[in-house]
Amino acid sequence: MCGIVGVQGTERAAETAFMCLYALQHRGQEAAGICTTSNGRAYLHRATGLVIEGFNDTVLAGLPGETALGHVRYSTAGGSGLVNAQPILVRYHKGDLAVSHNGNITNAQILRQELEREGALFQTTVDTEVIVHLIARSRQPTVDEQIREALSKLVGAFSVLLMVGDTLYAARDPWGFRPLVVGRARGGWVVASETCALDLIGAQIACEPAPGSILKIERGEVTHLEPLEQAGDPAPCIFELVYFARPDSRVWGASVDRARRAFGRQLAREQPAAADCVFSVPDSSNSAALGFAEESAIPYELGLIRNHYVGRTFIHPYQKGRDFRVRIKYNAVREVIDGKSVVVVDDSLVRGTTSRGLIALIREAGAREIHFRVASPPVISPCYYGIDMPTKAELIGATHSIDEIRRHIAVDSLGYLSLEGMHRAVAEFGPFCDACFSGRYAAPLVDLEMGRPASTRC
Ligand code: AMP
Repeated sequence: MCGIVGVQGTERAAETAFMCLYALQHRGQEAAGICTTSNGRAYLHRATGLVIEGFNDTVLAGLPGETALGHVRYSTAGGSGLVNAQPILVRYHKGDLAVSHNGNITNAQILRQELEREGALFQTTVDTEVIVHLIARSRQPTVDEQIREALSKLVGAFSVLLMVGDTLYAARDPWGFRPLVVGRARGGWVVASETCALDLIGAQIACEPAPGSILKIERGEVTHLEPLEQAGDPAPCIFELVYFARPDSRVWGASVDRARRAFGRQLAREQPAAADCVFSVPDSSNSAALGFAEESAIPYELGLIRNHYVGRTFIHPYQKGRDFRVRIKYNAVREVIDGKSVVVVDDSLVRGTTSRGLIALIREAGAREIHFRVASPPVISPCYYGIDMPTKAELIGATHSIDEIRRHIAVDSLGYLSLEGMHRAVAEFGPFCDACFSGRYAAPLVDLEMGRPASTRC
């Protein structure tokens, strides 16, 4: 998964992009990048790690101009080096072209092979690079048409921002898998993955571009190009509401906090538990746990505390044993837990390793009974539209029954939100893509069906 931002028509656009990336940090911690244009020339800085690690005043001063693109990249199975960081910048015959992409193009390998046969030389292993090659090789007369033609060849998930000279383009795939929101700020326009980025810079939210839209932002004016052809029903990702987006964002027109509370309330109705208190696995399940507590009238407590300063790189070299990763990130509050029957609410169960470690911690803190509740259905299928998930074999919900999972994580009871209940809770904002929970894929998995491995995604 990734976070993207585009800025057009503001002074020192790089600073605005930096602030927005800071707010989007949860969408990717592996690498960050900003590209700007000034007087027809592009400037690019990318660095591995967090936004704050890669950028400072000196770096930002070296990124002049009123147009900027930014990107934060999530750890993926493929290459994690700087070479795969974004924005990608190339020089083509119409000027400098930069791209920031969130999603996963499901026909990227097929397109890449065709392009390579025609002589294209690829620099990275990310699917995003096919976009720049398709644009550069298009025979359409204008940049607008080249971009539209390139995007219309893609299948799968893309919320994408492109910068050609001082012009910013923002587009969403016809299914609308990944979020994108447009706002007005600092006399110009800002486009970002989530509204929390716009809030930080005091932007006024203007719109969420419809699936298939292509917006062109130039000299402070927004125009809509002819949209991409609809390929099916819109299928925005429900997992953004379950786990990925920040609860202070609005995604798909829904408040993420309200959506998670609704999941929690529905979960309490479907999978009630008699207990002394309810607590969350912070922070991603706070809202769902609150919903569960409200609906079941069980007191909400803070039973687990998360250390916010755990860096990814620190964990690895010192990891001892399966549970160490969990212990370094969470601790249990004995005063809340000792001698109690507790409900622990988590937003999702993917591999089951985190919950197993957490349950061990909660038991050690003296819990009498542990009732584990998951505010989404079992994850049974990988996401091919941009959420980084393990293979099917590693998804505990795909390989084990609920009772086997209950025994594996060692809880007294285990209850998931039903697929139907999840949709019902947010019905007014749907329909949604629920492929990871249902195995039903809205957009064709072209590479996979042709026996090609999926490309490195973002
Ligand atoms: P596990 O079951 O050990 O794989 O961990 C599941 C927890 O990781 C969930 O409770 C989420 O908070 C979080 N999570 C869910 N999906 C993802 C994802 N795609 N990437 C990283 N963390 C995730």
